Amino acid sequence: MRIDIITVVPQLIQGFLEESILGRAQKKGLVDIHLHNLRDYAVRKDRRVDDYPFGGFAGMVMQCEPIDRCISALTAQRHYDQIIFTTPDGEQFDQPMANELSLCENIIILCGHYKGIDYRIREHLITKEVSIGDYVLTGGELAAAVMTDAIVRIIPGVIGDEQSALSDSFQDNLLAAPVYTRPADYKGWKVPEILLSGHQAKIKEWELQQSLQRTKTLRPDLLE
Ligand code: SAM
Repeated sequence: MRIDIITVVPQLIQGFLEESILGRAQKKGLVDIHLHNLRDYAVRKDRRVDDYPFGGFAGMVMQCEPIDRCISALTAQRHYDQIIFTTPDGEQFDQPMANELSLCENIIILCGHYKGIDYRIREHLITKEVSIGDYVLTGGELAAAVMTDAIVRIIPGVIGDEQSALSDSFQDNLLAAPVYTRPADYKGWKVPEILLSGHQAKIKEWELQQSLQRTKTLRPDLLE
């Protein structure tokens, strides 16, 4: 899978993408992540990519031309399954969307900044608009980082034990069961007996019951 992220501040997420599981996934060749500085596609000599909004509104708006030039340069080289714009009024990002996007070959994620992007780009070039929550961030970089992380960690081979990603919260609309590690008794705080029994079928049943119980209590909406 290939993910192209377009931003005016690539340095905001460069380190994040190079470290830990995402960094290792790229080294293993399981995903190819490219950051593009939108200023490289600026039409103005000062490399600015924003301008005053028509209508006299407050704030600055990202111009059509640099975004169009950058997206066109990418789409001239390969087909993209989705050209995503991060925006607070987009479709809410969740685990099913992460699962679906992880099956794509190539995606572009465009990060907005300032007051947002010229609406014509959204009308003519963007195929999917995604929000990571009902709050407003300064820019789309954190949204792109959140999405990339959630998408990449479920690509087969990225996490050592594939079963681990499948038993995480929100897969199958259930919250995850509690997890414990050594020591089995810490200050008298004991690990549930069943987990030390070695009886795999009973442990599986316990895990499912815990997931169901926690989901019922904490997120009953997921069971509806
Ligand atoms: N004027 C826009 C509005 O009210 O919807 C907000 C612009 S925001 C300051 C700048 C950029 O940050 C947006 O264009 C978007 O790319 C990104 N952004 C902010 N909040 C976001 C969220 N909740 N989800 C995804 N992207 C977000």
